Amino acid sequence: MEITIVGGGVSGLIAGITLARNGKKVTILEKNNKCCKKLLLTGNGRCNFWNQNVDSSFYHASNMELLEELLNLKKDLVLDFIKSIGIIEKNINGYYYPYTNQALSVYNAILNTANNLDIKIEYECEVIKIEKKDKFIITTNKGIYRSDKLILAMGGATYPKTGSDGSGYKFAKALGHSINKLLPVLTKLKGNYNYKDLKGVRAEVRLTLEENNQKIKSEDGELIFTDEGISGICVYNLSGDVIRGLANKKNEKILINFVPWFKGSNEELIKFLDREEEKTNYTLSQILEGFLNYKLVNMILKKLKINNTTRFKDVDKMQVVNILREYPFIPTNGGDILDSQVTSGGVPLEEVDIKKLESKKVKDLYLTGEILDVDGVCGGYNLGFAIMCGLIVGDMSD
Ligand SMILES: Cc1cc2nc3c(=O)[nH]c(=O)nc-3n(C[C@H](O)[C@H](O)[C@H](O)COP(=O)(O)OP(=O)(O)OC[C@H]3O[C@@H](n4cnc5c(N)ncnc54)[C@H](O)[C@@H]3O)c2cc1C
Repeated sequence: MEITIVGGGVSGLIAGITLARNGKKVTILEKNNKCCKKLLLTGNGRCNFWNQNVDSSFYHASNMELLEELLNLKKDLVLDFIKSIGIIEKNINGYYYPYTNQALSVYNAILNTANNLDIKIEYECEVIKIEKKDKFIITTNKGIYRSDKLILAMGGATYPKTGSDGSGYKFAKALGHSINKLLPVLTKLKGNYNYKDLKGVRAEVRLTLEENNQKIKSEDGELIFTDEGISGICVYNLSGDVIRGLANKKNEKILINFVPWFKGSNEELIKFLDREEEKTNYTLSQILEGFLNYKLVNMILKKLKINNTTRFKDVDKMQVVNILREYPFIPTNGGDILDSQVTSGGVPLEEVDIKKLESKKVKDLYLTGEILDVDGVCGGYNLGFAIMCGLIVGDMSD
């Protein structure tokens, strides 16, 4: 029996390795001259491939119940698989990386295992058309392949320079699947303000996302200003909700708390800012510069419509505290498909048999990894999902 996998990314390779370990004959068609290009970029080259806290609360999916079922199938086997290909892992606050800190080690381990198992990988082999007759007929730039079973592992649409350019969705659609709205997520956010002066400024903050005037989520971390808005892992982790919210015409607002380290009430914060007698003659700007980058101080003064000679005793102190704790950032857009990390949307989980990831529309067709409508936040959840799916598909029976 011939099994063909289209897409030599993480999910495709892991499905292939698992199938070959189960004695199956596998061919992988990969359009690039190497596999797993995206994997090499992950975690800033360090490859954060898994998280000890994988559960559905870290994901968005077309159907959360089905997602939960899927996660429970193989979650306990991910680290065993990683060990089985020779990778020693390290856990940093729940985030798993290879001990070497190099995505290249994971890449080499996956490829060496695939080669040792005699998996046939056709490189620079771009799939152009897929038809289902008695077998799958797969037309590529290198000729036609026929296969009894077909696995679509072509990834999402973001970072197309890595090879995953969204073509998987077109093939899934042509074979009868629906595609839930595709949006680039895990992305920077653009705002309604000129941020050029702030470019590169960083601050430890707490961000709270307000959607239609309801506070729905908070994230702590390092905020990085760009010339068009904000970035950083805490921004990425809110970006999925923001981008989907904007697409659904919801009002999105991010409240930036520039003093997350101060746990007391607003009144106590005023006292803290005001606490020494001698500070009564200090300007607000001088006080804020004790804990904030001067460019952020200028941004806050501008918001308060005061200048840098205004003394603290002369300002509306509650207004200052409100701005420090809830500085409003109104997102208007995210990054684009070229530089966002993950695609939200794709083939709905309802259209596959979760236990096998076999299509409910086309017999012997399987879908694995980012092509499915599941996306996770930063922290190893997306590679983790691609690995779990690969393990599920790899267990297919004849
Ligand atoms: C910069 C960056 C950093 C990231 N960091 C992390 C991280 O630290 N942790 C984490 O969990 N996730 C991270 N991710 C997300 C993660 O890399 C992806 O979710 C994951 O790689 C998806 O795996 P996949 O196998 O489904 O698809 P991919 O890895 O995208 O593989 C799809 C493959 O299919 C091939 N292909 C596509 N179309 C065709 C065709 N027509 N013919 C033949 N081949 C085709 C592509 O060339 C590609 O090799 C990051 C993503 C990016 C862009």
